Amino acid sequence: MRVRVGRWPYPYRFAFGITDDTDQSNAARVRAVYDFCLSLGIRPTHCAWVYHPEQSCGIVHDQMPEAGAVLQDPEYAAVCRELIARGAEIGSHGVSSGNNTRESVREGLREHGEIVGSPPRVICFHKHNAENLYWGEEFSSSSIIRWLVRRLVPTSHERYEGHKQSSAYFCGDLMRARFDYTRLFRTVSLNVLSKNPSMPFHLDDKPYVKYWFSCVAQDLRACRRVSARSLDKLAKEDGLFLLYAHMAEKFVDDDARIHPEVQRAFSLISSREDCWKDQVSSILDRLLAIKNLIVTPRRSGCVVSNPTHVVLRDVQFRCGREKIVAQGGQVLRPDVNGVFVLPEIPAYSAVSLFKSEEALAAGDPRGISGIEVLRMKLEEVRRLLLFRSDYRSTKLREKEFVEPAAQVRVGTADGE
Ligand SMILES: [Zn+2]
Repeated sequence: MRVRVGRWPYPYRFAFGITDDTDQSNAARVRAVYDFCLSLGIRPTHCAWVYHPEQSCGIVHDQMPEAGAVLQDPEYAAVCRELIARGAEIGSHGVSSGNNTRESVREGLREHGEIVGSPPRVICFHKHNAENLYWGEEFSSSSIIRWLVRRLVPTSHERYEGHKQSSAYFCGDLMRARFDYTRLFRTVSLNVLSKNPSMPFHLDDKPYVKYWFSCVAQDLRACRRVSARSLDKLAKEDGLFLLYAHMAEKFVDDDARIHPEVQRAFSLISSREDCWKDQVSSILDRLLAIKNLIVTPRRSGCVVSNPTHVVLRDVQFRCGREKIVAQGGQVLRPDVNGVFVLPEIPAYSAVSLFKSEEALAAGDPRGISGIEVLRMKLEEVRRLLLFRSDYRSTKLREKEFVEPAAQVRVGTADGE
């Protein structure tokens, strides 16, 4: 039985999430833009700083650190705690907007969790901070690619040392222990999965990052591309629109007015009942489990295995049948669009689905193919034919054997 599994929880056909960079933010603008998003059922992940910067940003170019709210500011911290209670997520934009030494990172990550009440799971690195892991041209180990990057974008040359154990900025082990998901690539396509279907992904040569993910990073330009047609395309592709935005800086003004383009785009997304709107970590947990789901087609049904730590809920699939029997005996029927729903696949487990009650009762999902049955029938015929010829030749040998023996016995008898 062939089965096609959808990525998102039933009945959703595409997903929308926001990784929100805190550059230039303040408590009032964050509150205003999140009031707007949460009222529409959109649950962004706000990536926050903990401290005001003590150093410049970058080792080579030594830039002025960016301004923006930090969790040590009580008013902004209260807003962040409130956002968590209302369904948003607080991730990390690093410890501060300037370079951060190992000790500062260690303390900052601890304080982040203490201030907002839950430790962050998602991080996006800030600009040229020295402690960023495998950032800029450090991402590539090829000297040719590094040379090319320098030629193409001369200003991009920076040094990043978060993954270098000899550096004062080394913090790879601390980051690995704290974060599940780190933002890396940026796509032009609204459907990030059309370019990066394996996200979130791990790279063995970058051990300090558990999983990388990609985003659409064009702020207002991405919003302008949101239309009924582009959302239909996302739904058709079982896609994900994961926006990377500087919401407090670009989506709202000091009078708490939301940019008209954002109002239009987000309202349209919100109106879509086929869109799953969730926090970045929830979306990435789902993708991690779904991309690893193994569906093994079987003659009497199929076996669905979830080899990850994530419990998968409301898994939707199509198989072109009118009913399916789950291993507990429940009969599943498709909705009007032919979509079945599996309420739960526990972590590290397999679930069997059968074509019929009879198949369930037999308890043998694999069964046997018609070709294999035919082969066994032919084998039986072959055996019979062989047996017959064996039988004949045995009779012949017996005859040949018995006669001389009889002569010997006669001879012996003569001797007696
Ligand atoms: Zn930033």
